[in-house]
Amino acid sequence: MKAHDGMYIDGAWRPAHGPDTIDVVNPADEQVIGRVPAGSALDVDAAVRAARAALPGWAATPPAERAARLGALRDVLVARKDEIAGTVTAELGSPLKFSQAVHAAVPIAVAGSYAELAATHAFEEKVGTSVVHHEPVGVVGAITPWNYPLHQIVAKVAPALAAGCTIVLKPAEDTPLTAQLFAEAVHEAGVPAGVFNLVTGLGPVAGQALAEHPGVDMVSFTGSTAVGRRIGAAAGAAVKRVALELGGKSANVILPSADLAKAVNVGVANVMSNSGQTCSAWTRMLVHRDQYDEAVSLAAEAAAKYGDRIGPVVNAKQRDRVRGYIDKGVAEGARLVAGGPEAPREQGYFVSPTVFADVTEEMTIAQEEIFGPVLSVLRYEDEEDALRIANGTVYGLAGAVWAGDEAEAVAFARRMDTGQVDVNGGRFNPLAPFGGYKQSGVGRELGTHGLAEYLQTKSLQF
Ligand code: NAP
Ligand code: MG
Repeated sequence: MKAHDGMYIDGAWRPAHGPDTIDVVNPADEQVIGRVPAGSALDVDAAVRAARAALPGWAATPPAERAARLGALRDVLVARKDEIAGTVTAELGSPLKFSQAVHAAVPIAVAGSYAELAATHAFEEKVGTSVVHHEPVGVVGAITPWNYPLHQIVAKVAPALAAGCTIVLKPAEDTPLTAQLFAEAVHEAGVPAGVFNLVTGLGPVAGQALAEHPGVDMVSFTGSTAVGRRIGAAAGAAVKRVALELGGKSANVILPSADLAKAVNVGVANVMSNSGQTCSAWTRMLVHRDQYDEAVSLAAEAAAKYGDRIGPVVNAKQRDRVRGYIDKGVAEGARLVAGGPEAPREQGYFVSPTVFADVTEEMTIAQEEIFGPVLSVLRYEDEEDALRIANGTVYGLAGAVWAGDEAEAVAFARRMDTGQVDVNGGRFNPLAPFGGYKQSGVGRELGTHGLAEYLQTKSLQF
């Protein structure tokens, strides 16, 4: 696997200031597949200076030209999609088919959507006697996680570029090769030097230095609620714009009129895909008491089918954390109906697809984000009870509702405290705003709402 031994700063790969490196490990076989530099505050400073220097030029570039660069970026991603899928599989461990269909394809769609939006968005509007200009926020510090390594980068970089912002990216330490490949793609697309910069490194070192740098006007963070809270606090103290995409504990509510088998099967697939490492995964399945036993056996059966197909989780720490939650579920009295804490293979960071029945709302596994292939099935008495349980966590990122009648499902979805709801298995829409209610975050990504995050207004009165 190709690895750069430098940082992409001001349009070229430059040596890091310090000697520290990060080993990149393939979680499927625990082999080291590459080594990248672990950046320091000095590297972050060099990258932020480059981004600041490039800002006036890029901000003044006509939107049509920014759109052309984004279109070129999309085309490079298309041309290199197999390499992207292979790289994500090597460093994240997801099965190659999933890497192709999701990890490579979704960022292509999102980059394409911003090529179009940059060309068509109204960066100027008339409000009475005023003209309102939508101008770039400035230099963006982007910090991303490993679970959808390219999607999370593109969901920040593409709208920031479309808006006229310049960027410094600190990707997750577990998936830096995908980020390096993306930097190559930006370069190939002809984006001017300094507009996009990459500093690989550790969160508490490079990430923190980026979030706290006075030359950064906005921090856009995706990751855990614990780190997001700190980044939000630091941004607040510095009066900086901040966007936070954090954790989730989404509910999949199956109303009695729904097609039960379909709702359960799609629900299990949703939780098991990407080995459960999806912030918006529907990790709590809510079923009416009269259908509960049937739903539990359907879920157990569906999960067992994933046994051989599921990839590993990203690293040993994550595997231990997920297995710790499974132990806790057993200890708190939930009933294991599929999987369990035992390692299914000798090598690699694998966790068995796991389903718990008899989960009650106050249990740890029903409240905390596990970020592994673990589904909890909860029983509800009536619709009000289902709504209370669905809304009964600190999170509000996503969710699902199933009903025989679409209007019935929509009525329920409107009462959920969450940023996205899939109705009867609705498909992912790369233009729909994505982001959290409550502690799942601040701000929205994707589409015009995602673009607006990177713009500020200036009103001229006449
Ligand atoms: P994390 O530890 O919060 O890491 C996310 C990013 O922040 C990584 O690049 C990380 O660097 C960096 N970081 C860590 N500590 C930092 C600090 N003190 N200052 C600045 N940056 C810091 O999260 P994770 O464990 O990698 O990812 C899983 C979590 O992300 C889950 O909770 C999941 O729900 C959430 N997530 C949310 C969304 C969403 O859109 N809402 C999407 C994906 C994931 P290192 O890589 O070096 O740790
Ligand atoms: Mg981390």
